[in-house]
Amino acid sequence: MSDKVNFGDELVSPEEKTRRVGEVFSSVARRYDIMNDLMSGGMHRLWKDRFVNRVKPRGGEEILDMAGGTGDVAFRMARRGARVTVADINADMLAVGKERAEHRGLTGLSWKVENAEALSFGDAAFDAYTIVFGIRNVTDIPAALREARRILKRGGRFYCMEFSSSDWPGFSKLYDSWASNMIPRIGKAVTDDEESYRYLVESIRRFPRPNTFRQMVTDAGFVRAAAEPMLGGLVTIHSGWKI
Ligand code: SAM
Repeated sequence: MSDKVNFGDELVSPEEKTRRVGEVFSSVARRYDIMNDLMSGGMHRLWKDRFVNRVKPRGGEEILDMAGGTGDVAFRMARRGARVTVADINADMLAVGKERAEHRGLTGLSWKVENAEALSFGDAAFDAYTIVFGIRNVTDIPAALREARRILKRGGRFYCMEFSSSDWPGFSKLYDSWASNMIPRIGKAVTDDEESYRYLVESIRRFPRPNTFRQMVTDAGFVRAAAEPMLGGLVTIHSGWKI
């Protein structure tokens, strides 16, 4: 890849984007979970519960939780008996996740550093692929979607939850003002890192609207691609199947 891509509102080379996304998550890893609560007023827990209800993990299933970070979604799926591989490009996020899992006495989890764009797993290795609040950070999203399909078995499920801007005019204005003004300030107070949270807000604003992303899921070869928007598309659960 040679063209410039967005890192938040800045245009940078693809290599620089991947490097700087890495810096963002290394910088916030220790405070990532508390920041999620502060930024969403605890709502991220409900969204993740709803997401896992849609995935319907079953005992003994092999699930890849991509961009799994500190394990929030993986823990919910492992509690339902699935064997979950938590994969993330950032070793610092995974280290925090491993500590949390040990602290909670959770089993059925394995942890692996992986770039979503080029996975080391063989073809048709997993029953389901999940990616929550991760794909907007990936530099080459179509490549990540193709890899998701490759590593799924036939009949495998793809589930993604992501932010975008809402199309409810009043709510969208309110959220934009909260996000642009308050989130970087909270980030500075809690992590002493305003810039990383400015990037996170900009990356949310730039992520495609639900219907556009649904088309990208279809273009990657998934069938019955669907989008379940919440809060006017501020958060959307996307799904698709490999046949
Ligand atoms: N899924 C977790 C959750 O919902 O709490 C973590 C989400 S966090 C906002 C985004 C994660 O995406 C970070 O852990 C980051 O390291 C990871 N990430 C960014 N680019 C990636 C890539 N190319 N491949 C794999 N993981 C990536």
